[in-house]
Amino acid sequence: MAPKLETDLANQLIDVRRNLHREPELSYEEFRTTAKLREWLTEAEIRILDLPLATGLIAEIGHAEGPVVAIRCDIDALPIEEQTGLPFASEISGKMHACGHDFHTAVILGAALLLKERESELPGKVRVLFQPAEETGHGAESVLASGGLKDVAAIFGLHNSPELPTGTFGTRSGALTAGVDRFEITVKGVGAHAATPENGVDAIVTAAQIITMLQTVVSRQSTALEPVVLSVTRINGGFTWNVLPEKVELEGTVRTYNEEIRRSIPERMTRIIEGIAAAAGAEAELHWYPGPAATINHAEWADFTKEVAAETGYEVRDIPPQMGGEDFSFYLQQIPGAFVNIGAGPAYPLHHPQFDVDEAAIEPAARYFASLAERALEKLQAKA
Ligand SMILES: [Zn+2]
Ligand SMILES: [Zn+2]
Repeated sequence: MAPKLETDLANQLIDVRRNLHREPELSYEEFRTTAKLREWLTEAEIRILDLPLATGLIAEIGHAEGPVVAIRCDIDALPIEEQTGLPFASEISGKMHACGHDFHTAVILGAALLLKERESELPGKVRVLFQPAEETGHGAESVLASGGLKDVAAIFGLHNSPELPTGTFGTRSGALTAGVDRFEITVKGVGAHAATPENGVDAIVTAAQIITMLQTVVSRQSTALEPVVLSVTRINGGFTWNVLPEKVELEGTVRTYNEEIRRSIPERMTRIIEGIAAAAGAEAELHWYPGPAATINHAEWADFTKEVAAETGYEVRDIPPQMGGEDFSFYLQQIPGAFVNIGAGPAYPLHHPQFDVDEAAIEPAARYFASLAERALEKLQAKA
């Protein structure tokens, strides 16, 4: 099954999506997916850049001297057991394309095939980026480190949206997705018999106070005008009913849009954690694991993506920012551009074991991204 550009692009791209859907691969393990992409792109005579990427790849279309734009999709899947019952459901137990990155890959491959047909007319070059490891939040950093986006003047990416019906398109200027950071907290007390807590230092009561007090980072220490979410999502401590454990571990996440506020959070949390631990006679420590920053769309390019969407027949919506994360933010910190949502719903939410996309949304999105890339080249050319 080779997606050569024939009249029935829609069906070919659906085949591509199903092929990938059957054999999902987790972040940085996308070897088969990358091999298939190489095969399909090579068959279409699209050149693939020689880059130090173990998985994922960047292809390039166009010969002309002139501006370079990039269109990007992500290719990884999730450690989720699929429960859709689809005839092309995951054949790999415990892994699933539950975020629709198979949809994204089919769309961007379709755009590449369409752009290849117009290669001689393109007033510049289009880099077509199939990015690994979006779900870990760090794949974009490997791509940037590979040097494959050198000279790119504008970059565009997509996510399918189960909330938007097929035929609709959503984006906004400014923050679209949140900064996503992860934390772990270790609370160390002194173990004791449950009947005689005075002989120990109760790590559980201390952890409970820390959890409660951490909410004041949001409710009392951050302005109500800038959204912050702090969620403790895991508590580990204790083995049985009559022993106070020595240690409790907590884990969670903080979501923000404002970079200044984001940077102030670890210090605020540390103050609370260490203060409460000291009051209890315990010790506590915060481990902070920074993820992607907020995805901040550049206003000019966000408006441009909407303009092209309206021309291509989409119903265009301004969507509110989302508290989820997206590592496309790493590109937008260095390259102007915009991230957009393509309606492929209604469906179960992203990461749900019954998540699915409307395949009818694939081909129009491929045509959209081909137009968007070409139109962006023209716009940049006119500016130069
Ligand atoms: Zn996801
Ligand atoms: Zn995703």
